[in-house]
Amino acid sequence: MNLPPHLSVREGHLWIGEHDTVRLAGEYGTPLYVTDEERVRARYREYRDALQAYYEPVQVLYAAKANGNPALLRVLADEGAGADVFSPGELDLALRAGMDPLRLLFNGSSKSREDLRLAIEHGVRVSLDSTDELRAIDEVAGAFGKTAEVSFRVNPALEVPTHPKIATGIASSKFGIPHAEIPDAYRAALAAEHVRPVGIHCHIGSQILALEPFVEAARVMVWIAGELVRLGVVLEFIDLGGGLGIPYRHDEERAPTPREYADAVMPVFVDGVTALGIRPALWVEPGRSLVADSTVLLTRVNSTKDAHRRFVNVDAGFNQLIRPAMYDAYHEVVVANRADQPPAGVCTVAGPICESGDILAPDRALPAVQEGDLIAVLDAGAYGFAMASQYNARPRAAELLVRGPDRALMRRAETIDDLVGTRATPPWL
Ligand SMILES: *Cc1c(COP(=O)(O)O)cnc(C)c1O
Repeated sequence: MNLPPHLSVREGHLWIGEHDTVRLAGEYGTPLYVTDEERVRARYREYRDALQAYYEPVQVLYAAKANGNPALLRVLADEGAGADVFSPGELDLALRAGMDPLRLLFNGSSKSREDLRLAIEHGVRVSLDSTDELRAIDEVAGAFGKTAEVSFRVNPALEVPTHPKIATGIASSKFGIPHAEIPDAYRAALAAEHVRPVGIHCHIGSQILALEPFVEAARVMVWIAGELVRLGVVLEFIDLGGGLGIPYRHDEERAPTPREYADAVMPVFVDGVTALGIRPALWVEPGRSLVADSTVLLTRVNSTKDAHRRFVNVDAGFNQLIRPAMYDAYHEVVVANRADQPPAGVCTVAGPICESGDILAPDRALPAVQEGDLIAVLDAGAYGFAMASQYNARPRAAELLVRGPDRALMRRAETIDDLVGTRATPPWL
């Protein structure tokens, strides 16, 4: 199987960076997420350098929802990243990580007045999703005696080849404002007393492996920028969103690199803004493509069973990694302690959750697996722990960070006591 550069097989074991996953699982227990810090830094730099080769004012805003571990946000803040935040919690994570408020964008299709107040209070720009929200932010900013800097999220109405649950820029999506209505939205923003429109924003979807949709989105955005310039909007940024996919099927898929993304999108963007005589910052919001492949989920085999097919029952299910159950997502699995052995049969890796849909990896050719073996689920760094739950009253896994020879927890495993921590007892019970 093709492996990214930070994963390797040494003497039959899967390694991440300079660490044997079999030893890590023995030491820290399972299930266990393990993240390679240098891989995240390298991906960030690939993006930044590829975009800056074409245009200087570039800002990468990490989509914090992909993986909100505070240590990971700190690593990205240290590299100069900002963040796309979707909630007061993500705003707090980004600010605590030391990210500059001017490198943040508060997004979302349903923000409360309290959300808007928090963004204004911290000087964070807001991407508005409706003209209703424009009215609300004008009032909230007015009550504060401040001016809110905003963009609108454009729905570019593009058909994007990805799973329908993550195609956010199609005409029927709940996100954004149809582009025909964008000029009116900006007219209203220009007329609002406590609002200044300073940007435009789009995000067309997630896990997109083709470049054409991004190029098309850039074309639409530059075209809209032209309309806005004619209305008198001074654009400080154009945000093209995130969405670049990764090759979850290591031997069958290829994802564009950040360099290929830049080579496709940047000429359209740079020519467009140059023709308009403007020089707004270019913002992009990658999530998955920055962090997904940095992380493996290690899970122990509890038992095997030959039923209508061969099951390998492990200790992590959709409570730890919901993507296979939720999106039929594919993740490569490696038997980490038999990583050099040839396939011995077809197995289905199943979790411990009381749902027949709790399958991590159906019908995979694996070596002869036994109780006690260790399975590594690859590419678990995005929408993995971030979407984990306590379903079936199972504590969420620990997260370990490795960097060179070092390793340290960046989140301990939850305990059963953590599960009951928020419980309240009605007085009649
Ligand atoms: C989820 C999201 C992203 C990141 O998407 P990826 O597919 O993880 O790159 C970026 N921007 C917005 C607005 C999002 O909702």
